[in-house]
Amino acid sequence: MDLIQETKLMMKKYHITANKNFGQNFLIDETVVNGIVEAADISKDDVIIEIGPGLGTLTAHLLEKAGKVICIELDKKMLDILHDRFYLYDNFELINQDVLKVDLANLIQTNLSFFQHVKVVANLPYYITTPIIMKLLESKLNLKSITVMVQKEVAERLVEIPGGKNTGAITYSIHYYTNPKLVIPVPNTSFIPSPKVDSSVIHLELLQDPRIKPLDEELFFKIIKIAFLQKRKTLINTLINGNFGDRASLEKMLGALQIDLKIRGEKLTLEQFQKIADYLSTQSSF
Ligand code: SAM
Repeated sequence: MDLIQETKLMMKKYHITANKNFGQNFLIDETVVNGIVEAADISKDDVIIEIGPGLGTLTAHLLEKAGKVICIELDKKMLDILHDRFYLYDNFELINQDVLKVDLANLIQTNLSFFQHVKVVANLPYYITTPIIMKLLESKLNLKSITVMVQKEVAERLVEIPGGKNTGAITYSIHYYTNPKLVIPVPNTSFIPSPKVDSSVIHLELLQDPRIKPLDEELFFKIIKIAFLQKRKTLINTLINGNFGDRASLEKMLGALQIDLKIRGEKLTLEQFQKIADYLSTQSSF
């Protein structure tokens, strides 16, 4: 039986219809499942945190490869099927909770007493892709890597080089904390129900230390956020609107840092944002 038939049968048997509110698009493409597992580079020394296991398609493969798989699933309707499929595996654990509310730091630390690495693997629910990725990065979790399926357009924004085309504030966080790469393109026909847009799998390898060291990390990210709130405006105007100084003092700063006075925030590199944040952090408190 192929994965499409198997998925349809499981859905019928457990009376499951995909719930849009939970971003449910179930994988039915064996090649993509294998591609995700391969990109995650899993061994028996690893604990995998799978966000949103759904019917357990990816989980079944993860359980064969990993020392332990901790699934975090919000939808109660998935619990019976996950239990029935995997209760015989002693390396399977299921947490029925919103991933955004789980104390991941504690979960990871506990598991690192028994395993070498913790890796996140998921076909993410699209409606909360950004909050999940930001939580994983900003909580400074002791993770080795994050391998996730996201919408194609989002994937491109995440792996784009800061200062490149079509970036977002999140692009800077990704490059600050990780080495990102696009792994595989995934057509929308790889899921049921089939979403409107294509997807991509990305792999984020966590850096031991952030790529750069701004004097004041909070200020650094605050400036990036403000620059991207009005990304079509010049950087200097967004800084004035954000109360980082008057035009004259900010022009003096950009001149001293050798940054074009007319540049838009979205064209800045990670290092240029660092220079600005470091300069402003020595001027006054923001
Ligand atoms: N892993 C399955 C697959 O690939 O076929 C399902 C992926 S589906 C795109 C996203 C899954 O995330 C669904 O099972 C959904 O119920 C679950 N989910 C949605 N919001 C969640 C949240 N806040 N916390 C944990 N799981 C969530």
